[in-house]
Amino acid sequence: MKVIERAPAKINLSLDVIRKRNDGFHEVNMVMTTIDLSDRIECTALDTDQIKINSSASFVPEDARNFAYQAAKLIKQKYNIHQGVLINILKEIPVAAGLAGGSSDAAATIRALNKMWNLKMSVEEMMAIGEEVGSDVPFCIIGGTAIAKGRGEKLIPIASPPPCWVILAKPPVSVSTAEIYQSLSLNNAPHPDVQAMVQAIENQDYFQICALLGNTLESVTLSKVQEVSQIKAHMKRMGADGVLMSGSGPTVFGLTRYESRMQRIYNSLKGYCPHVYAVHLCRGREPLE
Ligand code: ATP
Repeated sequence: MKVIERAPAKINLSLDVIRKRNDGFHEVNMVMTTIDLSDRIECTALDTDQIKINSSASFVPEDARNFAYQAAKLIKQKYNIHQGVLINILKEIPVAAGLAGGSSDAAATIRALNKMWNLKMSVEEMMAIGEEVGSDVPFCIIGGTAIAKGRGEKLIPIASPPPCWVILAKPPVSVSTAEIYQSLSLNNAPHPDVQAMVQAIENQDYFQICALLGNTLESVTLSKVQEVSQIKAHMKRMGADGVLMSGSGPTVFGLTRYESRMQRIYNSLKGYCPHVYAVHLCRGREPLE
């Protein structure tokens, strides 16, 4: 038996870091939305009781460090499953890019195994397993657009932003989310207005959404990866209505409603950036069953 699930990437339209908690995590307040750039997860039943990972990207771990492996292991333990699974990960989402690729692979694995092993887990149960793997996994279980609080796992689904193109450019470096948080000094960091962003989305006010894009972590990554400011400036010059770094970066995204402008920005970035994509925001939630 084989079950296939899409694992879409996310971007942060607003990301505020509020404080460092005693447990070492940071308290955040964010607006996240899924985009039409996805990995593909294929789960195939194995005769032997083991979890095997096969990834199309050479630098993604194929052992217990892989988030999809961790999700499968937790499910096997919790539901006392003695069957094995081969998880084939076809990577499209760039790795360590601020797009939650690994978290989305884990979420898609949870959805796929729920079907394959007929576990009848509710969305909440799948989110609870996801939370044990990582802070962004519960969001990746539901997808769509949501406010995320706590360490990112407390979610309030909201309406999707109005349709537009998202152009993504990742400089040829990867950053570690943990390192970016470690370098963050909250005293002089900018704090975006998350509530105003939620209101702009509710009003379907595209230009207000563009004006309110903000990310507390951006200045930290900017100081380490020069290309982030260069790409931001380039996208603005080429006519993007709003530009921002996603998550801990270093991927930068730009928004436009016009296909011709999307093409112009995409083509001009292709010349000097190794990973460039032009995709749509996903409207609504992923079908879960
Ligand atoms: P986030 O935005 O949630 O912080 P990210 O998009 O910046 O995540 P990922 O692509 O999830 O980063 O990769 C972070 C690290 O996780 C990588 O360095 C990689 O070694 C590890 N990893 C584990 N499982 C996966 C997976 N399935 N796909 C990609 N990376 C994975």
